This record gives sequence, C-alpha cells and structure tokens, in this order.
Amino acid sequence: MDLQLKDKVFIVTGGSKGIGEAITRGIAAEGGIPVIVTRSKGVTQDLVDELQAAGINAHAILGDLQELGNCEKAIRETAEKYGRIDGIVNNAGMNDGAGLEKGPEAFRASINLNLYHYYDLVYYALPYLKESKGSIVNISSKVAITGQGGTSGYAASKGAQLALTREWAAELLPYSIRVNAILPAEVMTPLYRKWLDNTFDDPAAQEASIVANIPLEKRMTTAEEIANMAVFLLSKRSAHTTGQWMIVDGGYVHLDRSLTT
Ligand code: NAP
Repeated sequence: MDLQLKDKVFIVTGGSKGIGEAITRGIAAEGGIPVIVTRSKGVTQDLVDELQAAGINAHAILGDLQELGNCEKAIRETAEKYGRIDGIVNNAGMNDGAGLEKGPEAFRASINLNLYHYYDLVYYALPYLKESKGSIVNISSKVAITGQGGTSGYAASKGAQLALTREWAAELLPYSIRVNAILPAEVMTPLYRKWLDNTFDDPAAQEASIVANIPLEKRMTTAEEIANMAVFLLSKRSAHTTGQWMIVDGGYVHLDRSLTT
C-alpha cells in the first residue's frame, strides 16, 4: 500500500528516541519529511545525519517543549523551511511518578512536561494544518484508562490527551483535519529501559513478569508497531478515521485476564 506521504512534512516531538524515533523512520520510509522536535541533542543529530546520508530529507529543531517559545519556534522554523505542515505527532513525554504524595508543585510540573506542549504545537500549527487538511496523532498511554498508582500528573496528562483528541476532532471537522490517539502499553524504549533498571532490584525478572501478562505472543509491542499505526493515521489512507483511540498493545488492556494466568 502506498501511503502517499511523499514530500509531505510531519513534525514528531521526541522523534529521535524510542517510539518517536520509530515514527520518524516510518515517515521517512514512506517518502515523507520528518521534522524532529526534541531536547535530545547528540542522538538527534546522528539520526538526521543517517537519514540525510540515505538521501532522505529530514530536519531537527532542538529545544525543551516545556517552553512555549520553543513550540512557536518549531512551527515557524518548519514553515519557513518547507512552506507546509501536513501533520503533528505529539509524542514527547515521560511517566515521572508525580503521585498523590509528591504534592502540588510536582503535579503542576508533570502537566507541564506531558500536556501543555500537545496543545501549544497544534495551536501554532493550525493555519498550516488548515491549508493541508492535515492529521494530528496524539501518543497517549494505557495509564489514561487503567490508572497505575503513584503517577497523578502523568495519568491526568494522558487522560487529557484522549479528551483533546475527541475535542479537536470535533472542532476541526470543518477543515477536514483529523485527530486520533494511540495508546501504547508496554514498549521497550530508552525510557522504559531506564525505568526498569532504576526501579527494580531484579529488572530482568520484572521484565519477564510484565511480558507474561501480554496476551498476544507474550511479548512487548515494538516501537515499529506503534509507528505503523501512527504513519497510517497520518496518511490519507485513513481519510475517514477521526476522534479515535487506537490501543496497540497485544490485548494487554482489554482481553480476559484468564488468558494470561
Ligand atoms: P523516550 O524513549 O524517552 O523518548 C522520548 C523522547 O522525547 C526523548 O528523546 C525525550 O528527550 C523527548 N522529550 C521528552 N520530553 C521532552 C520535552 N519536554 N521537550 C523536548 N523533548 C522531550 O520515551 P518513549 O518510551 O518512546 O515514550 C514516547 C511516548 O510514548 C511518551 O508520550 C510516553 O508517555 C508514551 N508511552 C510510552 C510507553 C512505553 O511503553 N514506552 C507506554 C505508554 C505510553 P530526553 O531523552 O531528553 O528526555
């Protein structure tokens, strides 16, 4: 299937590591132009160099998305360079454990880290998305619908991303801008690896027990499997899909628990 992304421009936040990196590569593989917006420096330059060496048009804009000025700059720089924006993948974020015991400041900081920039980028990109009849993909999390414990700020942010997916899908109907969300559950990424290694005395045992609870094939979802859904949602091949929450998790959230016990 040709996803018809050739020469279309897509912003991917956090697009040089983990799920974001896989989405960047997925866009590039389909002939699209990925613009990575992230604060990770070395790894981003390496990825852009690699893609450009392969003849792929790719660009990076560095900055912390928690600063409003960096969101505005990312859109301005992309528009100046390419003259168009066909989609936004809101992906940057992390489960920072700002739970009920951590207090109001940690909660606010977590919302700033995980939520505001999802709105800010779309706000600044809106004129270009109207022009291109673009697509927005919000990377949320299973935590939005299951809870996890000890992570109020992240859960609130991920839940708000699902609400905004429906809200924006409704508001942007007149412009044929589609808005969808993907909810990963367990995907091995640099962040996930760090969490396992820093949280548990026996990370390997913990990983094995998590994997055992994933119904389909008792394995984690790969970042590429999340990216495949994201790239499809960015493309006009999903032209009549909007306001949807896509749960790409091997049945982790919804299938009968007896299947894994
Ligand atoms: P990752 O490996 O840490 O990659 C995220 C990238 O985003 C990193 O390069 C990170 O930079 C960047 N980033 C984070 N906050 C940023 C900010 N404020 N400004 C600019 N760049 C920022 O994470 P991942 O596991 O791929 O997660 C990607 C998304 O999927 C997140 O929204 C996460 O909540 C969601 N998710 C992941 C899983 C999973 O199992 N992995 C499950 C559910 C949901 P630094 O390295 O400098 O932090």
